Amino acid sequence: MPDSTITKSPLPGLYIVATPIGNLGDVSARAAATLAAADVIAAEDTRVTAKLLSHLGLRVPMTPYHDHSDERTRAALVARMEGEVVVLVSDAGTPLISDPGYKLVRDARAAGRHVTTLPGPCAAIAAITLSGLPSDRFLFAGFLPNKAKARADTLAEFAGLRATLVFYESGPRLSAALSALADGLGDREAAVAREISKLYEECVTGTLSELALRYADAPPKGEIVIIVGPPGEAMAEEADDAAVDAALRAAMADKPVAQAAKAVAKRYGLDRHDAYARALALKEQA
Ligand code: SAM
Repeated sequence: MPDSTITKSPLPGLYIVATPIGNLGDVSARAAATLAAADVIAAEDTRVTAKLLSHLGLRVPMTPYHDHSDERTRAALVARMEGEVVVLVSDAGTPLISDPGYKLVRDARAAGRHVTTLPGPCAAIAAITLSGLPSDRFLFAGFLPNKAKARADTLAEFAGLRATLVFYESGPRLSAALSALADGLGDREAAVAREISKLYEECVTGTLSELALRYADAPPKGEIVIIVGPPGEAMAEEADDAAVDAALRAAMADKPVAQAAKAVAKRYGLDRHDAYARALALKEQA
């Protein structure tokens, strides 16, 4: 199998390199070899990546890169990829997963550059494996919105999905987030995975309301992933109705009733007349 990353002279292009999410021992041999061969490392925070490089005994030029880096910075990196090895890393884990990189990959592809990825640590995937919740079908939802309305709208969108849901969260917001999840999705089985691969790694399971209570007076320290199990059969039906109602209300905020009903019917595979009747009823209640 050709491997352009562990030869002495890798092909020029963009190398997306996953780095540890806590335990530096998780850096792969291929990641270390690729970092060593880089002409430049595009790093979310060069001070954080400097620690990894020092652990590996490497000195490699770095440049800061974010998705809000300007067009010129991105264009300069894409130009360098024609003849040089450009490595993209984030502070921890897999770049692009709630981290910068998407626009750089998009532009590199558009320019016809060689683009490859070195898979490795990702907190979302690690947390799913720890949780004991169904792993056959999941939706990665990143960070929940801060504002109550945006959060409720997001959860209304997810409520009817028969899938495990994965959220990134911080300690101080954990209990409020768990309560919001219980309100928006129903009191499902869930897990809070914390400090994965670090000294104080733990994974606590329970229903969303039990977990919200547990963390209410004692916000935990460190980095956190919340895993929420799929709805049970009865709950799924209830959630479906709630999700449709929420979607209709949201759509009617900026569309006439008929258009809102049409859009929601399409999204949920409903009969358009039924959706219209439900939309009218909701409008009357309002
Ligand atoms: N790109 C990273 C990845 O692949 O997981 C995620 C970056 S995102 C900005 C950071 C969030 O990931 C943290 O707020 C936390 O929710 C989660 N996270 C990162 N490291 C973690 C760890 N060791 N244990 C639990 N969650 C972690």
